[in-house]
Amino acid sequence: MIYYAPILTIDRYWMLENIKIVLVNTTHPGNMGSAARAMKTMGLSDLCLVSPLSPPDGKSTALAAGAADVLQSATIVDDLSTAIEECTLVVGTSARSRTLSWPMLSARECGRKLVDTSRWSSVALVFGREANGLTNEELQQCHFHVCIDANPEYSSLNLAAAVQTLCYEVRMSFLDADAHEAVEESVYPLSKDLEGFFEHLEETLSATGFIRPNHPGIIMQRLRRLFNRARPERRELNILRGMLSSIDKINKD
Ligand code: SAH
Repeated sequence: MIYYAPILTIDRYWMLENIKIVLVNTTHPGNMGSAARAMKTMGLSDLCLVSPLSPPDGKSTALAAGAADVLQSATIVDDLSTAIEECTLVVGTSARSRTLSWPMLSARECGRKLVDTSRWSSVALVFGREANGLTNEELQQCHFHVCIDANPEYSSLNLAAAVQTLCYEVRMSFLDADAHEAVEESVYPLSKDLEGFFEHLEETLSATGFIRPNHPGIIMQRLRRLFNRARPERRELNILRGMLSSIDKINKD
């Protein structure tokens, strides 16, 4: 029997290019190399390093093996907001549940969601520090959280192993992408525009006295969760911004 490899059309190539793997504050240079290797084996190449403790070195390159190109072309940025500003979908990884629960995806759902959205726009999958994962503030910048359903008695995977597992799910979903032709349009705002809205919301609510200036407390966290859950589209976000501006105007008068 002759086996024909699936022919990948141009737009399908774009899909994998639109998926960015973000590593936040990685401590061990070796992990950056292993993560690059994990990505390349699954067809991913866009690696972003947020303030690594030290830049990739010889150890990273050794562990990257045939994926040194992914490591070399990695972008290095100062903070998570910069890494994800052009993305319309951001998924944060977590080995455990946090105090403020957030919309959760299984590893399989995560692969599918990232692949579906990558047809139209850039998406990011964010990994945390080896010792203590992502901070609550970083997790709140994500639309969804994904937890690899591991042994409940020991669920914390090595960073690169977690990258490998989730990139494999992305690949499985990618190979199956034609089977679930997504109907979603590129209607969602970029992460930086959503952040702009949250800043505006906080400013307006401080000005009206609804929250104490510079002490947003749990209210802003809950509002972030509410709007993340609702996933406003770009046009809806414009309406919300307009509403805030109309309140700002009354406040000024
Ligand atoms: N002790 C940390 C775990 C850090 S493991 C904590 O409790 O958060 C380093 C990183 O690997 C995590 O930030 C996450 O990005 C990823 N990771 C490890 N185990 C995971 C799991 N079960 N599900 C999803 N991501 C995981």
